[in-house]
Amino acid sequence: MKNTYPKSILDVQIINKRVIVRVDFDVAVNPDHSIADDQRIIHNIPTLKKLLSNKNKLILIAKLGRPKKRDSNLSLKIVVDKLPQYLPGYTFKLVNDFLTEDPKTFSDQKHSEILVLENIRFYPQEKSMDPDYVRTLCQLGDVYVNDSFGMAHRAEASTVSIPQHMPGFSGLAMKKEVETILQSIDSPKHPLVTIIGGAKISSKIHLLEKLIVTSDYILLGGALANTFLKAQGYEIGDSLYEYEAIEVARKLLYLADQHPVQLMLPVDAAIADPDDNDESYDVVPLPLMRRGYAIYDIGPRTADIYADIIQQAGTVVWNGPMGLFENPEFKTGTTAIYQALTHNEKAFTLVGGGDTLAALSHKKHLDRIDHVSTGGGAMLELIEKGTLPAIEALRFSQKKFTK
Ligand code: ADP
Ligand code: MG
Repeated sequence: MKNTYPKSILDVQIINKRVIVRVDFDVAVNPDHSIADDQRIIHNIPTLKKLLSNKNKLILIAKLGRPKKRDSNLSLKIVVDKLPQYLPGYTFKLVNDFLTEDPKTFSDQKHSEILVLENIRFYPQEKSMDPDYVRTLCQLGDVYVNDSFGMAHRAEASTVSIPQHMPGFSGLAMKKEVETILQSIDSPKHPLVTIIGGAKISSKIHLLEKLIVTSDYILLGGALANTFLKAQGYEIGDSLYEYEAIEVARKLLYLADQHPVQLMLPVDAAIADPDDNDESYDVVPLPLMRRGYAIYDIGPRTADIYADIIQQAGTVVWNGPMGLFENPEFKTGTTAIYQALTHNEKAFTLVGGGDTLAALSHKKHLDRIDHVSTGGGAMLELIEKGTLPAIEALRFSQKKFTK
């Protein structure tokens, strides 16, 4: 049974209200404190514009980075300074500490003024979901809108607690992202090819259980693939893998055998001696028989096999680089996957993951990817579980507050 997606701001009339909007704004920051990439501001703008066009007053909540406490290096000021560029005609006020702020700031808010609370992770109560803190936050608005998909897998005060106390709806970016991802996995155009790589093995391995059921092909790369090679009893030398995940990998290989899916592992690899800094590497067929060496990328034969499969795909979902791409020598496999994916014009393509996107930055044809997810962890958890804490919080809210 599929759950219907909770209502978004398109399904309800929100007019002349004080609206608390959980936005993303978790931009990449340069060492000189300028914004490196403002995509995470831009994708929230349609929601803000829609709410503003209905005469609502907006109070925005976001986090930046991972502060444990107040840290001026992670102030949202850089974002607030940028906002007028995207929402001309409005003034913006950064509320330094909403807990001690003069109540007049909120009661006297004008329609042309947008309030932005300072980095919400400056408050330890945000994660602990402290009831007094939640109550104070809730006093700031009448309606809650969540437009931060990237944080939807985290249960925190501003993602989960607020809508327990007032009607909550999803914003446009959130809606699009959730619907696109669920559609790609649950009712894809076949063949569905999922590509999983990277190094966060334990957090990705459970996702595969779901993918085995839904995918036509699963292509594995990165250190994740090493764990599977090890689980098959192959020698992988000093390659990065996760010992604790081997048992799960074995079960998954067995499970894949019971399903029509083709679970593919690399057949060759770029290897190097981890202790040797001369940057030379070899390409060898797998299994790797050379002890003391490590697998750092998929090899050219694997890349060709994977590319052929990707070219036949109706849907491609990709998370995780194929190798240690930070070293240009070991970026080849990741680039080959990218090229195959962007040259399949008939497939619907979905790519997500912090490092995956970092590996692809500055590449040509990025616009050929149909959907680039703004949330790595959130995307994986949504695929695995079919829902996320912030989505469930909206569902709960709508049951409680709307007929
Ligand atoms: P994402 O953020 O896209 O979900 P992960 O965080 O899981 O991806 O993994 C990215 C990291 O995996 C990168 O730092 C990359 O260097 C590393 N990696 C991929 N393949 C290998 C490998 N064979 N050996 C060591 N590290 C690898
Ligand atoms: Mg990562």
